[in-house]
Amino acid sequence: MTPTAGPHTGPHSSAHAGPSSGSHAGPYTGPYAGTSRLNAVRRAAELEALGDDARIDLLVIGGGVTGAGVALDAASRGLRTVLVEARDIAFGTSRWSSKLVHGGLRYLASGRIKVAWESAVERGVLMTRTAPHLIRALPQLVPLLPDLLRPGQAALIRTGFHAGDALRLTAGTPGALLPRVRRIDADRTRRLVPGVRTDGLRGALVAHDGQLVDDARLVVALARTAAQYGASVLTRVRAEQVTGTSARLVDTLTGRELTVRAGAVVNATGVWAGEVDTSIRLRPSRGTHLLVDAKALGNPAAALTVPVPGSTSRFVFALPQQLGRVAIGLTDEDAPGPIPDEPQPTEAERSFLLDTVNAALATALTRADVIGAYAGLRPLIDTGDGSTADISREHAVLESPSGVITVVGGKLTTYRRMAEDAVETAVRLRGLPARACWTARLPLVGAPGHGDSRPLPAGEAGVGDGTAGRVPASLLARHGGAAHEVLAAGELTPIAEGLDVTRAEIAYAVSHEGALDAADVLDRRTRIGLVAEDAERARKAVEEIVAEAR
Ligand SMILES: Cc1cc2nc3c(=O)[nH]c(=O)nc-3n(C[C@H](O)[C@H](O)[C@H](O)COP(=O)(O)OP(=O)(O)OC[C@H]3O[C@@H](n4cnc5c(N)ncnc54)[C@H](O)[C@@H]3O)c2cc1C
Repeated sequence: MTPTAGPHTGPHSSAHAGPSSGSHAGPYTGPYAGTSRLNAVRRAAELEALGDDARIDLLVIGGGVTGAGVALDAASRGLRTVLVEARDIAFGTSRWSSKLVHGGLRYLASGRIKVAWESAVERGVLMTRTAPHLIRALPQLVPLLPDLLRPGQAALIRTGFHAGDALRLTAGTPGALLPRVRRIDADRTRRLVPGVRTDGLRGALVAHDGQLVDDARLVVALARTAAQYGASVLTRVRAEQVTGTSARLVDTLTGRELTVRAGAVVNATGVWAGEVDTSIRLRPSRGTHLLVDAKALGNPAAALTVPVPGSTSRFVFALPQQLGRVAIGLTDEDAPGPIPDEPQPTEAERSFLLDTVNAALATALTRADVIGAYAGLRPLIDTGDGSTADISREHAVLESPSGVITVVGGKLTTYRRMAEDAVETAVRLRGLPARACWTARLPLVGAPGHGDSRPLPAGEAGVGDGTAGRVPASLLARHGGAAHEVLAAGELTPIAEGLDVTRAEIAYAVSHEGALDAADVLDRRTRIGLVAEDAERARKAVEEIVAEAR
C-alpha cells in the first residue's frame, strides 16, 4: 500500500457492523469508574474485566499523544474503547519534542498553508479550551546581530512573523493570549536573554508561540480524561498479531495473553507503526536537544532563536524549560534502521547545536555546560527522496489491506485533529455507533471547566516562579485545577535539594497518573530523569514514595 499524505482512507475491505464472536465487554465498573484516576489497582481490574475474547468498539494501539487523543475522541463519543500501550504513557516520541504548541509559521514559510492553518487552529483550541493550564505564551526572540543574519534575512524573518500573526488572528486566537510581533531595543533584549552577545546588538524581533510545561504531561492528561469517559487505558500491554478486527494483547507484567475483538483497530504507534502493520512505510528523522543549566544563559525569560548559517529557514532555539533548564535544539537527521527504545544524540549533532547557538552568545557554552541531552524520532511518512526536513508534517489516516487503520505523521500540536480524523474514518468504514466529535470543547483534567478542577483558596498559590503562597507556582503549572488533589496526596517538600518537584507530586503520579514504578515517575510524570545527576539525587526518595503509594 502506498501511504498518501493528508487525511485519507485507502481501499478497504467490506464494511461491517462489528466483530462476530466474543462477548461484549462493557466498561469497567470498579471503584475508579467515571474518574480520571489511573493506577495499578485500576489497571489490574480493567484487565480482569476485559477478559479473554472480549468484544469492544475500538482498540487503540499506542499511548503517545496520538493514541491518547484517539482514545479520548472515541470514548467521549460513547464508543467502548481500549487503549494499549506496550510500555508507559508517553514512552515514545511524544516525550522528546521541543514542547512547543506551534502556530505553523515554519509551514507557512514553505507554502504549506493547510498544515499551517491546522496548527494555528489547534494551538488556539489547546490554549483557550482544552489545556490552557499546561501552556504559556513564550516570547521567541531573534537577536539583530548583523554578522549573524544574511543581507535581507531580518526583513524576511519580520515578514514571516507578521504572516504568523495574521494566521493567529484568522484562527481566532486573541492577542491577549499571544502578543503581536514587535521589535525591541538592545536593553530589553539583554533583559529577556541575559546571555546574548552584545557587540553590535541592535535589538531583537519578538514573536510569541505556545509552550507546554512538558509534553508528557499533556499525554497523561489526555489518557486520564479518556479514562474518565470510560476508556480502559492499559500500560505495559503490548499488541501483537494485529488485524483489522482483533489483536493478541500481552500483559508484559504477568505474561498473561488475551485476545480482543474490535469493530475497528487504530494503529497509533508512531515510529513503530510499520512493526504493527507491515504495509506502512515510514522514514524516521531524528531531532536532538541538549540541556544546559538556565544559569549558564543568565536565566532567560524568552527563547533565543539563532539562524543556521547557510540556511534561510532553519534555526536553532534555546528554550527555557521547567526545573531551571534550557533546551537547545534541534536537528533533523535521517534515522534509518531498527527503531531504538530511546534514540541517542550523535556527537555531530551535539557539535552542530553548540556551534550554532554559540554564535549568538556572549560567553560560549562548552561540552562541560551540557547537563543532559535527548533525541526523538519523527514518524514521517516515506514520500521518496529529499531531505527529511523537506518531508511534509501533514498527518495521514491509512487503511491497510488487513483493515488496520493507521494514524501517523502530524505534530503534537495537531493531535486532536488527527484523532478526530482517525475515529471518523473508523466510524464511517465500520459503522460504529458513535456520537459527533466534541473534543474541541472538552477540557482535559486540570483545565478550567473540567468538572474536577478547583481554584486554590486565596493566598495558597505561589506567584511567578517563586513560592509566595504555600503551593509552588511550578506545581500549579504542572497540575492546574487538579492541584488541590495533589495537595491531598502528600507533603509539599521538594523531592531533592534544588528540584522544585514535591513529594506530593510523586505520590499523586502513582495514585492518579498511572505511574507503575520509579522510572515512570522520573522519566515521564516528572522530567527529573532528563538530567542523570538530578535523577540520582531524587531516585531513593522517589522509590520509597512509589513503594508506599502502590
Ligand atoms: C525532536 C522532536 C521535536 C518535536 N517537537 C515538536 C513540537 O515542539 N511541537 C509539536 O507539535 N510537535 C513536535 N514534534 C512532533 C511530535 O512530537 C510527534 O509528532 C508526536 O509526539 C508523535 O506522537 P505519537 O503518539 O504518534 O507517537 P509516540 O509518542 O511515539 O507514541 C507511540 C507509542 O506506541 C507504543 N507502541 C509501539 N508499539 C506498540 C505495540 N505493539 N503495542 C502497544 N504499544 C505500542 C510506544 O511505546 C509509544 O509509546 C517533535 C518531534 C521530534 C522528534
